[in-house]
Amino acid sequence: MSSLALKGGWVVTQNSKREIIKADVLIEDGRISQIGEVGKADEIIDTSNCAIIPGLINAHTHISMTLMRGIADDMNLEKFLEKTFKVDAARTPEDIHLGAELGAIEMLRSGCTSFVDMYYGQDMIAKAVKDSGIRGFLGWVALDEQFTTQKGSPLSNCENFIDSHKGQERIHPLVALQGVYVCSEETLLKAKELAYRKDTLLHIHLSETRKEVYDHQAKTGKRPADWLYDIDFLCDKLLAAHCAWLTMAEMRKMAEKNVSAAHCPISNMKLASGFEAPIPEMQALGMNVGLGTDGCSSQNRLDMWGEMKTCALLHKVQRLDATVMNAQRTFDMATIEGAKALKMGNELGSIEVGKIADLAVIDLRHPAMVPTFPENLISNLVYSCQSDCVLHTIVNGHVVMRNGEILTLNQKEVVEKSQLISKKFF
Ligand SMILES: [Zn+2]
Repeated sequence: MSSLALKGGWVVTQNSKREIIKADVLIEDGRISQIGEVGKADEIIDTSNCAIIPGLINAHTHISMTLMRGIADDMNLEKFLEKTFKVDAARTPEDIHLGAELGAIEMLRSGCTSFVDMYYGQDMIAKAVKDSGIRGFLGWVALDEQFTTQKGSPLSNCENFIDSHKGQERIHPLVALQGVYVCSEETLLKAKELAYRKDTLLHIHLSETRKEVYDHQAKTGKRPADWLYDIDFLCDKLLAAHCAWLTMAEMRKMAEKNVSAAHCPISNMKLASGFEAPIPEMQALGMNVGLGTDGCSSQNRLDMWGEMKTCALLHKVQRLDATVMNAQRTFDMATIEGAKALKMGNELGSIEVGKIADLAVIDLRHPAMVPTFPENLISNLVYSCQSDCVLHTIVNGHVVMRNGEILTLNQKEVVEKSQLISKKFF
């Protein structure tokens, strides 16, 4: 049994009382075994003048799209999808793997320890997850066969991926769906059945744009979430990304079925999909809402710090109310609420004895973080912190980044290869 102690830091527990305490944290066999004064350990990291936070959870992305950074900017979603689908179809499994390595490095550098992914070629992404040390909730995307460039049936590909990866360390396979615009009732219900049969999460893009809502209304006479309720697709395994265009009636139906949401404010703003994602209303209805960056072709970074700050600012300005999305509520979305949205509230998202040791250590003497006291620590995390304030990142009890150096992958090599290989997409 190996042990690791983080000594002398401010522990931002994110427990039910949201306590911030000066304490050591002991990690044994990948789990937090003690919070308080810790004596001996096999390995000790001095965390004085640091904050220890739960690893950030990116609740929606397409990690391999890192190689498409800056490829389709300043265009609306329809044009954006046209361009990215074209590049997608040309990509090799090696490109998907390399993009995932680059994305994992970017996220680990920012203190993000878990991400929810929607893509095909998840076997290549799983390999990057394994090697990089990050935690991946990996959804092989399903859609109607007539719309896909995948070889074989997307749902069978998804099932095969789940069967071959379930139970592997830090890999949580799940069932993903592109959206109602390319998924028939039959595809959706088969996907739901698969998620129940394999006991996995179910992930979908939902009501991202007004056009999606209007087109679906024209086709079925119903708004997407109303329709999904009527066909009995909504369920407590479902994590719906975006949710930018929902009525109160739709949200009530989603809350009734215990659906969770992944809010992606920067992607929604950049693609001009909408700025009205009714997050405060969803939260008031008791829904768990996490935060996601979406893919690099729309965000363009896998940066949860930027996502948190933007989330808070967006809701404030949209409602002309500076109190509506405060720092604590926003930080919750990136940590414990994100964990609950992934049905991992008992394992991730807070620093408590017994939980999995997915943590990040923040330098409170970084110029951007000074002055910090317990009173303004959460505010500074949401409004001031940036990726280069993260000193160490720990996943499953393993130090994967120490003093800003990635220990698992060769960052220089991944960066050089990515620069070289991406030329063909431009
Ligand atoms: Zn997406």
